[in-house]
Amino acid sequence: MTFFRDAVERMTGYTPGEQPRGDAELVKLNTNENPYPPSPRVLRTLAETDWTVLRKYPDPLATPVRERVGALFGVRPEQVLCGNGSDELLTMALRAFVGEGEVVAYPTPTYSLYPVLAAIQGARTVEVPTGPAFETPLEALAETDARLLLLCNPNAPTGVWTDPKAIGRLADRFGGVVVVDEAYADFGPGSAVRALDGRPNVLVLRTLSKSYSLAGLRFGYVVGPEALVAGLRKVKDSYNCDAVSIAAAAAALDDEAWKDANVARVREERARLTGELEALGFEVTPSAANFVLARVPGGDGAAVYEGLKARGILVRYWNQPRLDDTVRITVGTPAENGRLLEALRTMSGRETTP
Ligand SMILES: *Cc1c(COP(=O)(O)O)cnc(C)c1O
Repeated sequence: MTFFRDAVERMTGYTPGEQPRGDAELVKLNTNENPYPPSPRVLRTLAETDWTVLRKYPDPLATPVRERVGALFGVRPEQVLCGNGSDELLTMALRAFVGEGEVVAYPTPTYSLYPVLAAIQGARTVEVPTGPAFETPLEALAETDARLLLLCNPNAPTGVWTDPKAIGRLADRFGGVVVVDEAYADFGPGSAVRALDGRPNVLVLRTLSKSYSLAGLRFGYVVGPEALVAGLRKVKDSYNCDAVSIAAAAAALDDEAWKDANVARVREERARLTGELEALGFEVTPSAANFVLARVPGGDGAAVYEGLKARGILVRYWNQPRLDDTVRITVGTPAENGRLLEALRTMSGRETTP
């Protein structure tokens, strides 16, 4: 006997990457956080926050943020909806578009939250394997009879980027809604927002967690056609973004230059890290994100994960087909990446510098 709905009783919950407390010595390259601080404008806004904003309910639509997003992408504020992280926007999308027993489709491997959200909803999933180099299987996805397609671009945990134009062509022949999850798009060639604006069935999800260094703030937004955005509004919690985070998010969006500079530093380190990993015998999937998926020499991903952990370096490992011979490494600061590479050299017995 259980108190839970069947769907909830049957499912396992999401497993987030480890968030250890305290240990400053730890090199944390496991959850794709930005290693650089957020804009000083955000910090100033937080410092100057007047307590009286906490007494009242916040703006239910986070209007200052919607206006800024509208200006950034040349869309109307009515095309934008904000969320408590883009994870909440994914929850809203599942709630709004996929009924019990209906189909949600996505390529695999991808963000491991997608199947969890589908399970909560009691939805059926169609998982379409990516190609040999983890290419997005656009043709096969278009042929699913899904209500909702979840496309992470660049994809996690592979870093593989798909041209938004190709996603647009897929959306044109697909009968359901396409959600493009752009958590990492700022680290890649570009966003799909402008490229896909005007399509009736495409929503683009963006977050301040990665490129804006604000994972702890919990702020994301979705951009799409007004009709879809209006529908999502119906299923959201009334006050889903708090007053402090709305002010801080608006301040972050006022400082694109800060974000762009940090993104440039991460990209530069991504190239260096990729080269050094390859020199150590890793096969690195070309990444458009702030992490790299690296196939470890010998293929024992778990051993490398454990070995690094024992040396105080956290990376991400999945014990599942196509990933168990890899580790996913977040691009850190030059010093953090240096410690990672040093540890890998020690572990492979190549610690002697030439
Ligand atoms: C980090 C991440 C998100 C969103 O994160 P929030 O912190 O909830 O905004 C969404 N999708 C993917 C693939 C991510 O990696």
